[in-house]
Amino acid sequence: MEYEAVIGLETHVQLKTKSKMWCGCANEFGASPNTNVCPVCLGMPGVLPVANAEALRLTVLTGFLLQCEIPRFAKFDRKNYFYPDSAKNYQVTQYDRPSTREGFLDFEFNGGISRVRITRAHLEEDVGKNNHFDRHSGVDFNRAGVPLLEIVSEPELTSAEMAHAYLNALIELLVRGGISDCDMEKGMVRCDVNVSVRPKGSTGLGAKIEIKNMNSFSGVRHALDYEIPRQIAAVTRGEKLRQETRRWDDLGGITESMRSKEDAHDYRYFPDPDLLPFTPTEEWIASIRAVVPELPLARKQRLIRDFGLPAGDAEVLKSNDALGDFFEKAAAGGNNPKGIANWIINNLSAQLAASASSLADLRFTPGQLRELVELIDAGRISAKVGQEVLADMFATGDSPAAIVDRKGLAQVSDTGAIEKICDEVIAAHPGPADDFRAGKGAALNFLKGQVMKLSKGKANPGMAGEILERKLKG
Ligand SMILES: [Zn+2]
Repeated sequence: MEYEAVIGLETHVQLKTKSKMWCGCANEFGASPNTNVCPVCLGMPGVLPVANAEALRLTVLTGFLLQCEIPRFAKFDRKNYFYPDSAKNYQVTQYDRPSTREGFLDFEFNGGISRVRITRAHLEEDVGKNNHFDRHSGVDFNRAGVPLLEIVSEPELTSAEMAHAYLNALIELLVRGGISDCDMEKGMVRCDVNVSVRPKGSTGLGAKIEIKNMNSFSGVRHALDYEIPRQIAAVTRGEKLRQETRRWDDLGGITESMRSKEDAHDYRYFPDPDLLPFTPTEEWIASIRAVVPELPLARKQRLIRDFGLPAGDAEVLKSNDALGDFFEKAAAGGNNPKGIANWIINNLSAQLAASASSLADLRFTPGQLRELVELIDAGRISAKVGQEVLADMFATGDSPAAIVDRKGLAQVSDTGAIEKICDEVIAAHPGPADDFRAGKGAALNFLKGQVMKLSKGKANPGMAGEILERKLKG
């Protein structure tokens, strides 16, 4: 019998806020242990939480990015459990009334667009971090109380590759929306994976097995690449899989059983008596809806549709917001968006990389880059001279036309001047000239190259070719 995997992801991302969820402590990575703490995030008795408005805003914005419904009533609940990293012995989360629910994410996979439904994206608080040393362990509470969004997908992913593509698209969306920096190395994104297997074509779900402890996207992929065949082998042997939580061992490359999976009632969820239900106003929700940015995939599709860009170019411009914005400004009002995209992706990016600078440092405008491409398109300068002009624009911020005039770079389209250079080239290279006369067409390219060289790139290449050919054949 053939089996297929059914995968759902729970992705936790730290929100990009200045302060923590319930107190004014800084939400920052890398501070000395237990320096960003106060009685609230340490869970001292008698303290009261005050909700972070920006975290609530980012949660609703994420809801819009994921096409979710935004309930007008949400609440916060306590999830009760004991663990050293949670001094309060509970974690505040949203149990049955989350701030967003029932959305979807479209992403590119296998040459097409896949859609995975989003069950919910709810707000909760992060917990502290256990650090283990040689002979003792410590708990760092700097992370305790940092706002965390848990994004739960429906179990609709069917392979490790698909899960990977989904995660990439999700992260791109969250970064684009300014929701989170999603820096995995700083622990800003953590994933739990639910995976089960079932006979291909059936609709039921097998025993749900949760895998924890993947600290990279490749970890998610490797864990699934191990776990799916493990489950298929087990059911093929006739074993009955039990619901459980397994831990991914990155070094060993295996998953191992941690505990039989607890059910929701084990956590004794109840509404947090210190926190009011969250009942946003229509105006507030509308003000967030008004600033929802265009989704990365939508931008890529629009760049292809409206500007006629090749998919590869649109992918580059979609993956880098600033570059995409620069392109759209440059292409607006011009008639060669493909040429402009080409100059941005190849030449401008290279110059930026070479000078270790960013678009924000540029001394010229997108419109001036368009002018440069127009000078080339109009035959006033060659593409090669265009490179020199671009370098000058980097250095001086002058307009391309001014640079061409100042340096005398305008292409020579004066027949007499080009004829003179062609005569010189033919006289200096009798061998290739004879080759061409003998029928070796490639020799013409060499001679043309010499004309360009002698004219310092200024000769109109088309005219140079025509004149050479005429002279050699005549
Ligand atoms: Zn605090």
